[in-house]
Amino acid sequence: MLDAGFLIRWLTTAAALVEREADRLTELDSPIGDADHGANLRRGFTAVTAALAKEAPATPRAVLQLAGRQLISTVGGASGPLYGTLLRGTGKALGDAAEVSEAEFAAALRAGVEAVMRLGGAAPGDKTMVDALLPAVDALDAGFGAARDAAERGAEATVPLQARKGRASYLGERSVGHQDPGATSAALLIAALADSQEQ
Ligand code: ADP
Ligand code: MG
Ligand code: MG
Repeated sequence: MLDAGFLIRWLTTAAALVEREADRLTELDSPIGDADHGANLRRGFTAVTAALAKEAPATPRAVLQLAGRQLISTVGGASGPLYGTLLRGTGKALGDAAEVSEAEFAAALRAGVEAVMRLGGAAPGDKTMVDALLPAVDALDAGFGAARDAAERGAEATVPLQARKGRASYLGERSVGHQDPGATSAALLIAALADSQEQ
C-alpha cells in the first residue's frame, strides 16, 4: 500500500533527480524553447520539498495537493501549471484514504494525465510531456519499473516529432530532431516513482 510517506518520498526523489538533471533539461529547452526548463523545475521542486518538510501532510491526496499548489505558484513557465495539474488531478482522484493500492494510484495518475491533456490541449504525438506520461500510465499495471522504461522510451520517441503545442510549436518543422524537455522531465518524475519504491 502507498501512504503519505511514500508520496513524500516520491516527490523528494523527483526533486533530487530534477536537481541532478537541471542543466540537461535547460540544454534540451535551448534549441526548441527558451532555455529555462531545468531552472523552472528546480525552483518548483525546491519549493515542493520545503513545503512538504514543513507541513508533512497526512494523506496521499494532501501531499499531492500541496505539491501541486507549489508548482503552480512558483514555476513561471508552461510546465508549472501542467505539472501542478498532474499532481492535483491525481490527488483528487485518490480521495481521502490514508493508504491506496498501486492499482488505485495507477488509475488516479491516469486521471491526472487526462487533466493535463484537458488543460494544455495536447494529444499523444504533439511532442510534449504527454508523450512520456501516457505510455507510463499505460504500463503502470506492470509496475513502476515498467512505467519508468515506458516513459523513457516515450521521451526518446519525441525526437523525430514536430511540436504541435507549447513554445516549440512556433518552430514548425525546425522542432524536428530534438528531444522534448518536458517529456524528458516527465520521465524523471516517473523514474522517481520506481526509485522511491526501491528505497
Ligand atoms: P515554457 O515553455 O513556458 O518556457 P517550460 O520550458 O518549463 O515552459 O516547459 C516546456 C515544456 O512544457 C515542453 O517541453 C512541453 O513538454 C511542455 N508543454 C508546453 N506546452 C504544453 C501543452 N500545451 N501541453 C502539454 N505539455 C506542454
Ligand atoms: Mg522553457
Ligand atoms: Mg519559459
